Amino acid sequence: MNCVGKWIVFLGAPGCGKGTQAESLVSENNFTVVSMGDILRENKTKSVAAYDGMTIGEIIGNGILLPDEIVMGLVKDELKKIDSVVNRNLLFDGIPRTIGQAESLSLLAEEFKKKIDKVLNFVIDDEIIFKRILGRYKCSKCGKIYNDFFLSPKVSGVCDVCGGNKFDRRTDDNEESLKKRLSEYHSKTHILIDFYSKLGMLYNVNANDDPQKVREFVLDSLNAKKES
Ligand code: AMP
Repeated sequence: MNCVGKWIVFLGAPGCGKGTQAESLVSENNFTVVSMGDILRENKTKSVAAYDGMTIGEIIGNGILLPDEIVMGLVKDELKKIDSVVNRNLLFDGIPRTIGQAESLSLLAEEFKKKIDKVLNFVIDDEIIFKRILGRYKCSKCGKIYNDFFLSPKVSGVCDVCGGNKFDRRTDDNEESLKKRLSEYHSKTHILIDFYSKLGMLYNVNANDDPQKVREFVLDSLNAKKES
């Protein structure tokens, strides 16, 4: 995709693969990813007054969404850190997740003399979500992602990429937290599909396939001229 200064949103339920696709665009297509989950995990020790002083890490562990003001404040700080941000293609992964955040993100775009160009909605079956999330683990050294159901290292216990032999799982990748994350998605985030569809920005991506195939769908949507 040849573009300069585009703002793209990746929308979808937990485990839909938007993070994986975002990373693949960074390496080959000149995108800078603004991953809300990663930003929050970097700030995991900060406490949140609105949630009785719970830390951001604890809130994430419980599978619930952080307040909009905190999330949007962190996004704004993140954009200020990016070199020549107005010339970069930005890919928002996991932001917005509520109508309030969607409205704030549009206002933020205006401050940067930008607009949101496209919203890619990753459509996935619940059964696949459970396998992707509950089977997911990564190499502690290089971050390569594996999955108990879909992708094990070629030699058991040894990372294919760096040879590391330690692996870890996200604290919120457990059944209880996942159920809460899905309930948050259905009650607060799913409505954004309709919101962006009415604005003519929405592109549906079939996210049930393997990452290579999904990547083709993503590139098709990014290159598409009209709403699909
Ligand atoms: P992710 O890495 O995108 O799966 O996000 C992990 C967790 O971070 C979510 O389950 C939420 O607890 C929190 N989080 C991520 N993005 C947002 C957001 N836009 N608004 C509120 N909370 C968020």
